[in-house]
Order: sequence, then C-alpha cells, then structure tokens
Amino acid sequence: MQAAGHLGGAPQGFWHLVPEMRLQMSADNWAACPNCLNIRKAAVKAAQAELDASYGSISLREYKAKEAAVAAARRELDEWEYRPTFREDWEIYGAETGTVSVDYSGSCSTCGYGTHFTYEHPIPDPGKNGGAEDDAER
Ligand SMILES: [Zn+2]
Repeated sequence: MQAAGHLGGAPQGFWHLVPEMRLQMSADNWAACPNCLNIRKAAVKAAQAELDASYGSISLREYKAKEAAVAAARRELDEWEYRPTFREDWEIYGAETGTVSVDYSGSCSTCGYGTHFTYEHPIPDPGKNGGAEDDAER
C-alpha cells in the first residue's frame, strides 16, 4: 500500500483506527426547520382567512378575538424563524481510499422532518503525467 509508505514502521493494524479519528472531526449546525415554518405559515393563512370570511357577519367582540388570533399566529411564526430545531451533522472523508464520501444527516426535534444520505465521488485518476507510479516507469 503506497499511501502508508510515509508512516514507516506503522503496524499493519493501524488503519482500522482512522475511521475513529474522522468521527471526532464531524461538524454540527442548527437551523430553523422549513417544515415547522410551513406549519406556522399555514396557521397564519387559516386564521386570516377565517377573519376575512367573518367580516360583517359576527359581533365586533368576536371579530376582535379573531384579529387577536391572527396576531398571535403571526407572532408565533416570527418566533419560529429564530428557533433552531433542525439539527445537521455531516462528515467528509475518504481521500486515503480514492473515493471522497459525504455523509449528511438532518432532522427536526419537533416535527421529525429530515433526511440522511451518503454521496460518494471517486478522485479522478491523475493520468500519465500525474501519478508517482508513472514516474517510476520512466
Ligand atoms: Zn420541524
């Protein structure tokens, strides 16, 4: 294995430790959940539609209560735009294997919305002029 050459006398079992080392480099991010925001946007829209539909057909007191419900729904939406319930974790690794892997997980702790995927992309062969083995043949 040419890639291990610079390690000199590293024991043969050394490489099984590498996946554990990359786990320590994972990155996290917290974001506002798009599904939770859509739920709150729908609630504002529904409250506004109910208010508009009732105009002129209910008492002023009932109308004011529906106006307050619209305002409360809008406040809740504003608050959720700054509530980071969507956790993201990702790792990028694999140069030593010749294939770069991107592993992503994201999910909302409130509504369960989320996804997980792994994408693998091979590192292109450097070709005749780029590989160290090619230099050895000359
Ligand atoms: Zn959510």
